Amino acid sequence: MVKGQISVQTENIFPIIKQFLYSDQEIFLRELVSNAVDATTKVKALASRGDLKGDLGDTTIDILLDKAAKTLTIRDRGIGMNEEEVNKYLNQVAFSSATEFLEKFKGEPIIGHFGLGFYSAFMVASKVNVVTKSYKEEFEAVSWECDGNPEYFIGKGERDFRGTDIILHISDDCVEYLENDKIEGLLKKYCSFLPVEIRFGTKKETTWEGEGEDRKSIETEVENIINNPNPLWKKAPKDLVDEDYKNFYQELYPYSQAPHFWIHLNIDYPFNLTGVLYLPKIGNSIELQKNKIQLYSNQVFVADDVKEIVPDFLMLLHGVIDSPDIPLNVSRSYLQSDRNVKKISSYITKKVAEKLLEIYKNQKEEYESKWKDISTFVKYGMISDESFAEKAMKFALVQNIDNQSFIFEDYKEKVKGNQTDKHNKVVILYTNNVVAQDGLIAACKQKGYDVVEMSEAIDNHFMQHLEYKMGDVVFVRIDSETINNLIQKDEKVESVLSEKEQEQVKTIFEGIAVESKGATVQLQAMGVEDSPVVITKPEFMRRMKEMQQLQGMNFGDFPDMYQVVVNTNHPLVANKLLTVKEEAAQKELATYLYQLAQLNHGMLKGSELSAFVANSLKFLH
Ligand code: ADP
Repeated sequence: MVKGQISVQTENIFPIIKQFLYSDQEIFLRELVSNAVDATTKVKALASRGDLKGDLGDTTIDILLDKAAKTLTIRDRGIGMNEEEVNKYLNQVAFSSATEFLEKFKGEPIIGHFGLGFYSAFMVASKVNVVTKSYKEEFEAVSWECDGNPEYFIGKGERDFRGTDIILHISDDCVEYLENDKIEGLLKKYCSFLPVEIRFGTKKETTWEGEGEDRKSIETEVENIINNPNPLWKKAPKDLVDEDYKNFYQELYPYSQAPHFWIHLNIDYPFNLTGVLYLPKIGNSIELQKNKIQLYSNQVFVADDVKEIVPDFLMLLHGVIDSPDIPLNVSRSYLQSDRNVKKISSYITKKVAEKLLEIYKNQKEEYESKWKDISTFVKYGMISDESFAEKAMKFALVQNIDNQSFIFEDYKEKVKGNQTDKHNKVVILYTNNVVAQDGLIAACKQKGYDVVEMSEAIDNHFMQHLEYKMGDVVFVRIDSETINNLIQKDEKVESVLSEKEQEQVKTIFEGIAVESKGATVQLQAMGVEDSPVVITKPEFMRRMKEMQQLQGMNFGDFPDMYQVVVNTNHPLVANKLLTVKEEAAQKELATYLYQLAQLNHGMLKGSELSAFVANSLKFLH
């Protein structure tokens, strides 16, 4: 053995490596296995060009754990190194690239902490021993040893086949890396799709034999191959069927519900990117779905937090992006301004929009039936990304309560004849709660209006966005303002009551309704078949309040503003109320009509509701 000194540096980097990225220590395994994969890929390339003497043989990479000896070994059958190469690559290249990496890192988070390389071994090992033999048969095996000092030893190694063993003597404070489960977990996390087979000991496999009573299970020991070297995203879409995509989704996210749609990404110019993105069932809870996209670089797992690389709304997608063109050893904050990353992000956005349009065109029924599951995603995308919004106008749907679906432009055409207001805007009437607003929906239908459902958390935002973007539509919730006021009709309904009688009605209702804070009474001549009393809320105030709630803000508790609109043409108002002479009885009837309206709006609760029920029973006697 000969002693050497790693290129003289004023500062010793080993203690830094040891402390550095304490939380991300585990990446050492990815770095070392990646090196083994590179060395193996190189030897395979030599073999395929006919430049390799002898057989290629088995190229599986072995991960070997020896608890008694406290070692973890990464063994490859790659190109190996001769003595000169060990000197050059480990003592100089690896050392200087680690130093450079630490320089760059300087405390700023780097995506996936990618690129520390060979010297990451010293994060967990008190001593590293490399035994390697070059594929060139004329060279003898070499052994290199270093215990985290700039000093190393190099000499003749014991090895008679091509390739490299990296033997890590795990340090006492890192004994967790001597546990089978820990290592298997890390291999699964980082190496699941590496392009060369990785073996971690053996595992038991159960198979079944025989029929009926004779059926029995047989346990056999088989190789424990960690990875799938040919992941789906690397294959050509034309060679794949739906089932393949669904199975791969299960491989990525075991026990998950099947995804709705998927997009296979495959581009090699102006940058290289492959991957598959899935659109899962999203529902209303956006946050839960985020951080599921896995980022790979040439099949090496880098991170599952890609927020600097894809626009926020795309974070709702699941799946894999693999691109060697994403710079991984720069700081995360730098990534966002990187030109390649910007191109990648707009490419993905474009692809997703194209795919959704394609599905909408070609599988309309299926798309419509799944709309509720993907609408939050599409709406979120439209609000946050202008170019996506433009494209999405061709596949973003609005669904009415009769379960018909339209894109917004078509819907506008459908209703504009009957639902245009005095400012020439098309009124889109919506309900946010089909059950609670059943009575109001029925009233709208009776008038021949169409009602759509807008009940998702994101809808308030989305409707405002559309009003702004489309310019000629306005969304009005069906309990907002009396629809007669809003939509210009040719015929104006006259009141059957004289002005004096109308005053009387107003006074009676004011007498009872003023007790409720924020209520004002308004009279309106509607049809005899319309409700006697309707409650409406100013759309603007309500939206403000909802927005506040959504954003968790509170500008003080202002009371619910609403109007009590009395239909002066309803027989109960026009005839009965004014013919009742006693004031108490008048008040009782008016209260009852008012409470019915409140009930219809889901506003009667608690003691008020109980009082109403008691009152109703009294009426029935
Ligand atoms: P990088 O892989 O980024 O070049 P590393 O520090 O990981 O940096 O490795 C430095 C060099 O050491 C590699 O470029 C390679 O030439 C050599 N090397 C490392 N591991 C192996 C291995 N298992 N087999 C052959 N050569 C290796």
